[in-house]
Order: sequence, then structure tokens, then C-alpha cells
Amino acid sequence: MNKIRRIGVYTSGGDAPGMNAAIRAVVRTALFNDVKVTGIFRGYEGMIEGDFTEMVSRSVSSILQKGGTILKSARCPEFRTPEGRRKAYENVRRSGIDALVAIGGDGTFTGAEKFSQEYDIPVMCIPGTIDNDLFGTDYTLGFDTANNTVIEAIDKIKDTAASHNRLFFVEVMGRDSGCIALNAGVAGGAEAIMLPEKETAIDELIDMLETAKERNKTSMIVIVAEGDKNGGAYYVAKRVKEKFDFYDTKVSILGHLQRGGSPSSFDRVLATRMGYFAVNELLNGNRNSTVGIRGSKMVATSLEEALRGKEFKLDEELVTIAEVMNI
Ligand code: ADP
Repeated sequence: MNKIRRIGVYTSGGDAPGMNAAIRAVVRTALFNDVKVTGIFRGYEGMIEGDFTEMVSRSVSSILQKGGTILKSARCPEFRTPEGRRKAYENVRRSGIDALVAIGGDGTFTGAEKFSQEYDIPVMCIPGTIDNDLFGTDYTLGFDTANNTVIEAIDKIKDTAASHNRLFFVEVMGRDSGCIALNAGVAGGAEAIMLPEKETAIDELIDMLETAKERNKTSMIVIVAEGDKNGGAYYVAKRVKEKFDFYDTKVSILGHLQRGGSPSSFDRVLATRMGYFAVNELLNGNRNSTVGIRGSKMVATSLEEALRGKEFKLDEELVTIAEVMNI
């Protein structure tokens, strides 16, 4: 096994709060171990174009608390082609990079796996996405911060809902994952939560709201996950309005504000632990894996398993608890 002398680090795909804290941890852990670090801008796009920078300890000063990513992120169709990956490899080799740390979602992981297989370069991935939809970790970077953003919004929406006897449909992000919807729904005290994993039928939702009304609830919040199979918050609201025309029905799509903001304490610590662990795993000879947290322990899972494993992330018990709380 060749000694690692220089690590390349990049952020790719959808950005998430905590990515900067992870970059900082990667840079400082590497430097602590006398390993140099190259920052690769704009993910695979920057790798193909050779958009690189030398990173020293001061390069990552005061970024721990910042949302987004100082290395920028991009989606890069060219990296999906063998020719694109060959160009990327030439730049990586020319700059003396021996190993890579990729911070991103499953697309980023898939690209990293292909690249490492084709060019025999060790890669360690850090799960950075607000969706919490990656295998091999209980929590992804940004999920906790996004939840805090959503509950802050729900609290505010509740004030106006209560003042006007309003029925609010709040659509939250998460792609095909209902993790944000479920957690924020419980933390925000929503009357109903529409999860992609559960396929709540509109009739079922109407029954639930009917019961809530009989219990004298005058305003209600329904959280709709963006991946909800019924067709999104506007559609659900329209269908429900047909039944509850006495309510002032409103829809609020929280959108990209859920991706921004200063990372929570949880995400900062998680990012720092993941960055530290990722570099140490590489230096200890592990490769082509993703880091994650299981319980309170850091773990590494092979990309093979992480990308093709089956894991149902949604907490079934929390789904039941959410239902019980709506009595
Ligand atoms: P995320 O990492 O957040 O899931 P994407 O799915 O957009 O975001 O993936 C980020 C980038 O990873 C893509 O723009 C592309 O450059 C690379 N990528 C994704 N899938 C593949 C693939 N099958 N082969 C090679 N590269 C890929």
C-alpha cells in the first residue's frame, strides 16, 4: 500500500449545512498527520477542469459556522462519461493527489466509486445531504439543521393558523425520504404528516382531519413531504378543501431555505467527527467506503454496501408516536 501524501477534498451534488465544518475537519486532520490537502472546487466539474487550490490550516478559518460550502458544489454530467473521468484523473495525478474525500449524496458516492475502481485511487465519502436518505449512517450532515429550520417555520405558521382558523399544508424537502417531514412534524406538533414511505390516502387524511375537527381543533397543520405520492401540497390542499370548505386553506412550500443557514451544534460536531474519521480511515488503509454514525459510534461502510444495501430509514416508532400525539 502506497503512503498517502496528499488528499483531495471536494463537495458535490446538493449542498447541506455542515459541509464547511467537514472540509475544515478533513484539512486539519490531514495537516496534523503531515498530509497535504488540495481543495477541489465545484465537485467533479472542478476535477475535470483542474480547478484546484492548496489548503492550509488558515484556509478553513471561521468556516465551521457557515452554511453552504466554500469549495462550491456542482452537478456534472461529464463525469458520468469515461472520457470525463479520464480528464479528471489526469488532473488528480498531475497535482499529486493520492486519495480523495468526497462530501455529498448518493450521486457523489456513485461517481466516487466508479472513479476509484477505474483509477485505483482510495476514496472515503462523507454523507452530506439534508434528506437523511443515505445508507450506512443514522444521520447525514445537514439533516438536523434542516429540521430546526422547518420547525422554526412551523411555529410561525401555527401563530397565523390559530388566529384565522386556517388549515395549513406545509411542504418540506427530502426527495423520496420522509425523514424531515416526520421529525419536523413531531417536533412542530403537526396534526398530520404525509410521508412518501406511507402513502397516506387523501380519504385517510380527510378522516384524520375530521376527527381533529370533532375534537374542537380550530386550526391545523399538515406536513407534506416533497416525495409524497399523492402529488404535493397544492394537490392535497385542493382535495381537502373540497371537503372542508369552511376552513381558510393555505399552502406553504418551504423550499430551498431548508438547505441554508448556520449548521446546528449537532451538525457541527457530526461534521467534525466525520471529517476526522474519514482521514484517519484513509491513513489506516481503508478505502472506497463511507463514514457514518451508528448510535454514538463512528463507523465505515463499504460503498458497495452503502450504495446497494437496503435500509428503511424511517423510524416506525416515531410514526406511531406522531399518530398518538394527534388524539
Ligand atoms: P448528490 O450527490 O447530492 O446525490 P447528484 O445525484 O447530482 O447529487 O450527483 C452529484 C454528481 O455526482 C453528479 O453531477 C455527477 O457528476 C456524479 N455522478 C452521479 N451519478 C454518477 C454516475 N452514475 N457515474 C458517474 N458520476 C456520477
